[in-house]
Amino acid sequence: MLRRTTRQRTIILEELKRTRVHPSAEQLHARVKHMLPSISISTVYRNLDVLRREGLIVELSQGKCSSRYDADTSRHHHFICTHCRMIEDICGFDFGRLNEEVSRKTGFDIRTYSISFSGICDACKKNKQQCPMT
Ligand SMILES: [Zn+2]
Ligand SMILES: [Zn+2]
Repeated sequence: MLRRTTRQRTIILEELKRTRVHPSAEQLHARVKHMLPSISISTVYRNLDVLRREGLIVELSQGKCSSRYDADTSRHHHFICTHCRMIEDICGFDFGRLNEEVSRKTGFDIRTYSISFSGICDACKKNKQQCPMT
């Protein structure tokens, strides 16, 4: 039993590490099914919860929409497309300086921060140009 649980968790984690799309539990469920044909969506949720509590993955809460998951636990920020819900990492910017500036101007002792960007992704922008009706 323990072995089976560990194997499921390992497969879910490996699958999450393999992708950069920040999938939802439902999307992950579909991806691991070929390896774990009998796994239920609630088992996927349970495993994701354990992995999150162990600090191995990050849960990206999406308000009313289902949470998305990220196996990259290093500090980084995200862009989410409000049209197709695509999430991409935003890297290569010096947000640390912004952090310091906010700290200095407000006097708050800032321990952590997260920045999220939202808008229309490249693919959706192109699609919109192709079909002006949408
Ligand atoms: Zn999009
Ligand atoms: Zn990410």
